Amino acid sequence: MSTPRSKTAYVVRPPTAVLTRGFDPRLSVGSARPAVFRSSTYVFSSPEAAERAFAIALGKARPADGESVDLIYSRLSHPNAEIAEDHLVPLEKGAESAAVFNSGMAAISTIFLTLCPPGSSFVYTVPLYGGTQHLIHQLLEPMGVKGIPVMAGDAGAMALAVAGARNLRLVLVESPANPTLVMTDIAAAAAAAGEHPDRPVVAVDNTFMGPTFQHPLVLGADLSVYSATKYLGGFSDMLGGAVLGRDPELLVRLRGTRAILGNILQPDEAWMLDGRLPTVGLRMNRQSKNAQRIAEALQGHPRLRRIIYPSLFTDPEQVRIRDAQCSYPGGILSLVLEGGKRAAFDFLRRLRIAKNAVSLGGVETLACHPATTTHSEMSDEELVRYGVGQDLVRISVGIEHWRDLLAEIRGALDES
Ligand SMILES: *Cc1c(COP(=O)(O)O)cnc(C)c1O
Repeated sequence: MSTPRSKTAYVVRPPTAVLTRGFDPRLSVGSARPAVFRSSTYVFSSPEAAERAFAIALGKARPADGESVDLIYSRLSHPNAEIAEDHLVPLEKGAESAAVFNSGMAAISTIFLTLCPPGSSFVYTVPLYGGTQHLIHQLLEPMGVKGIPVMAGDAGAMALAVAGARNLRLVLVESPANPTLVMTDIAAAAAAAGEHPDRPVVAVDNTFMGPTFQHPLVLGADLSVYSATKYLGGFSDMLGGAVLGRDPELLVRLRGTRAILGNILQPDEAWMLDGRLPTVGLRMNRQSKNAQRIAEALQGHPRLRRIIYPSLFTDPEQVRIRDAQCSYPGGILSLVLEGGKRAAFDFLRRLRIAKNAVSLGGVETLACHPATTTHSEMSDEELVRYGVGQDLVRISVGIEHWRDLLAEIRGALDES
């Protein structure tokens, strides 16, 4: 896919489009890079233009092709959000439209609140990002929205759950799962949803592999969802979220909810995110190469019971899904240590280059113990069922030299 919906006159590939489309230097006194527009409100060019802008914002009218609509107020949209959105679209294969949010959770909760009214249901894969899990149990279920969990990677269970659901509005897939990296077949989930009479929206949390290595929209999903805090932002210095989709009308609905909730990405953060987008492919490629070299070099290490990393998958179904939907194995690996929690904690204590912190996707390497941190809300039974053992350490590999990281990891293992 190399044909972005270009506002430039010629068609270019994504790494070019992210630097050329959607931003007109003439609109910011000729600056080569976008300026920050911090204004909360915008001056209308005429009362008629104001009336027209409101009609379009409220969904009473649709903008004509090429029509320039006046901005209104920054909770609805602002130039830096629109510039970042225009630059996100070419990075996501198959995307026609984007919306930015002030965190990944803001993006995910906006999808739920837009699509799932009380009395409706949704299907979701488990294990799921902890914040999304909280949203489901503490907000959506008490509101009368029914969540139907399906084990990640189980295509048969997914098909059954979707086929049996009533008033089904959404299928939410997170793949690979965190921190076990179990992959769910996105095309199969989309096919199951496509056969359901309610035609639920299929959304994929693409934070771990996208937009560089996994393309849910090409596989039949309707929405690709991001914590932009992670790889898109890339430096562990901002929070953000993004949703991309094939159908611009669906994105219009999400932006409508965003305006009500007031969770649009703010101008400074949108400007920052926008500046990170041209390098997301470079960073992710380096991170994936580093992680692959480290994971493969550690294979067979006597202190490790297992290394969880996509290029080392052995389960035939997981290998099949990986090959069908991921172009590279990505920057996250999990180590399962001999010696349980004690060994995992000792390992984390010995790291110097890598920092013991949650989050992922930044240029610096981070390591954490999911069972006692990111996944600590889960019961012991759930932790076991989902494979999040006390002996598991998750590592988000950065762009440091991989030999330094490997030497540090080996040293920290060998001391135990
Ligand atoms: C971090 C993360 C989120 C939540 O994003 P925030 O930006 O922290 O709100 C959602 N899904 C996944 C997979 C994540 O890693």
